[in-house]
Amino acid sequence: MASGFEEIAGQAPALRAALLAWWDQHGRHSIPWTLRPDGMRPADGEALDPYPIHVAEVMLQQTQLRVVLPYWQRWMATFPDRDVLARAPGQDVLLLWQGLGYYARARRLQEAARRLLGHPWPQDLAAWQALPGLGRSTAGSILSSAFDRPAPILDGNVQRVLARLTACPQPPARQQARFWGLSATLLEPARPRAFNQALMDLGATVCTPRSPACPSCPWRGPCAAYAAGDPARWPVKDSPRSLPVQVIGVGVVLDGDGRVLIDQRLEEGLLGGLWEFPGGKQEPGEPIEATIQRELREELAIEVEVNAPLIELEHAYSHKRLRFVVHLCTPISGDPQPLASQQVRWVWPSELESYPFPAANARIIAALRARLEAG
Ligand code: SF4
Repeated sequence: MASGFEEIAGQAPALRAALLAWWDQHGRHSIPWTLRPDGMRPADGEALDPYPIHVAEVMLQQTQLRVVLPYWQRWMATFPDRDVLARAPGQDVLLLWQGLGYYARARRLQEAARRLLGHPWPQDLAAWQALPGLGRSTAGSILSSAFDRPAPILDGNVQRVLARLTACPQPPARQQARFWGLSATLLEPARPRAFNQALMDLGATVCTPRSPACPSCPWRGPCAAYAAGDPARWPVKDSPRSLPVQVIGVGVVLDGDGRVLIDQRLEEGLLGGLWEFPGGKQEPGEPIEATIQRELREELAIEVEVNAPLIELEHAYSHKRLRFVVHLCTPISGDPQPLASQQVRWVWPSELESYPFPAANARIIAALRARLEAG
């Protein structure tokens, strides 16, 4: 039984050959940004336009391929090249990203396009990594996909495959140097584009998180996790710690004409530049109605009456969970001021879809529509 990084690294030539042979037959060969404009697979060493690949790789950082595909298609139809993206209004970019989450990725993608205006595409790893939003794995993936350069990758799929192949006894996050070293050692120097794509395809279609299809795997022979009989045990995880929950009181304020109050977040931070319904964190021991009144007073300088609950929902980020408790509100006094936002607006409910909102707010909008239709 092979186990450990050294034993696997020692079998690199055979592993490369087996993976590439499998990929030629079973790989995902219709991913649009991996193909030439005429729909054909590029020859080894042939360069592709980096722009569609750059867009796709940033979208794929936190999101699965099947979800990314329609977003990528809409994006390419709207911003067909780097310069169009660089010159587009930021709101248009966020609107097109709406639903993909982690909006900082969209802003960084546009920032990268703006920095590159008038310059050629970067040709080495350091120059790609110097662009906003690109870590080593994304930069390596773009370099190998676009230019067929030998840059290793280590996204979540690849970490899972390598952790199983070696039966690594520690979580990959604690062994990053060894995982990077193994990814670089295994990489086929003559066909880096094909090898990296094959490795990603193996992780996405065969060595899947919960039920790896080991009988179909070209690396079954040397795989230590397969030999151990329970491959889904890897990658080893740190003991799960429960995420802290923060309750957010949100006010959906409707004026006498039926318009609703929204504000645009400041540019910095997690959801910068997006629109939302006003609200904020509940203080310890504070009733939620008081939270909403206090937040709207502090952030918008208005007094409201807090009415019926509209919806309650939870949203998990990587480091915390938020529970949104949303109430309908009626304005009592004050002219809304953007004290903690870029701007505030009264809009008709039918106009809400032309503003980019975070994912959790989309459910609030749906609940508001349903409530208004029900009268
Ligand atoms: S044999 Fe199974 S666990 Fe090992 S790399 Fe292949 S699919 Fe993953």
